[in-house]
Amino acid sequence: MKILITGGAGFIGSHLCDRLITEGHYVICVDNLGSGRLKNVKHLLTHKNFRFIKHNVIEPLQLIEGKIDQIYHLASRASPKDYQEYPVETALANSVGTDRMAKLANEKNATILFTSTSESYGEPKEHPQKESYWGNVNPVGIRSCYDESKRFGEALLMAYYREYNLNIKIVRIFNTYGPRMRKDDGRVISNFISQSIENKPITVYGDGNQTRSFCYVGDMVEGLIKMMNSKEIGPKNLGNPNERTILEVAEKIKNLTKSKSELTFLPLPEDDPTIRQPDISKARQFLSWEPEIKLEEGLKRTITWFKKNGNSV
Ligand code: UDP
Repeated sequence: MKILITGGAGFIGSHLCDRLITEGHYVICVDNLGSGRLKNVKHLLTHKNFRFIKHNVIEPLQLIEGKIDQIYHLASRASPKDYQEYPVETALANSVGTDRMAKLANEKNATILFTSTSESYGEPKEHPQKESYWGNVNPVGIRSCYDESKRFGEALLMAYYREYNLNIKIVRIFNTYGPRMRKDDGRVISNFISQSIENKPITVYGDGNQTRSFCYVGDMVEGLIKMMNSKEIGPKNLGNPNERTILEVAEKIKNLTKSKSELTFLPLPEDDPTIRQPDISKARQFLSWEPEIKLEEGLKRTITWFKKNGNSV
């Protein structure tokens, strides 16, 4: 198949490119290299089935390829630190960018998969979060450029589905980690690993009792591909339900790296959700998907990668 991936040079996108190339597909990788990195797909640049286009999805995209079978629309900054630095660009990637990709999918008769987020549940009043939960989001808070634009992206695709019968898929991605996370992207796993390796203070925000549920990137890519090739529209939660406090994660990473780092406690950022765990019954039932990599194993792989590659930008 001919497959377009926006955000294809990013953390999750580049792993998706690798998988689809291995499976023999032709992959067009679109990325403006805002938070993505060319080095993530450097090894693919000379592959006959791979084409890289430096492009911002907010702008119209002209393709020389006549036929496109599938579009994975991942392009957006996803780390709170990152998207709060570029709120307008983030809001537009998920709104205007999603519109451009939906139009392209309509024109090419392609299926489009949109990667929404667990953040669409905001500070959840239901736990774990099922897809049927509408969420508790601050529409004008510092996270709204991200969570509200993802929610709008979902709504826009549903509109295309209802009006044009467009083949759409919506997934809500929960916290994902693994090799190729940027050392400086500000997320908890990349921060804690690089701080531990360098024996610098581990920066726990708040009291560290807030929870997240972390999914290894290989499992996430598998879920995305299963969803794309299913009959489902979604939304479907994709994530690992193994919920941990941030303190537990800090201790685990400290132990695995045999670090001398101390924990340091900093203020909890505004609107930082206190709990998060996906209910993945639907993904299990309709996609036969379930994460396989345990946190300890995934962290070991990520730590090994960071030791070797973490410092190169
Ligand atoms: N966090 C932390 N220290 C850090 C980075 C993040 O304690 O150096 C916390 C953050 O406050 C949040 C959780 O870890 O409660 C996950 O943060 P992240 O930015 O990775 O993703 P989020 O789930 O908030 O989008």
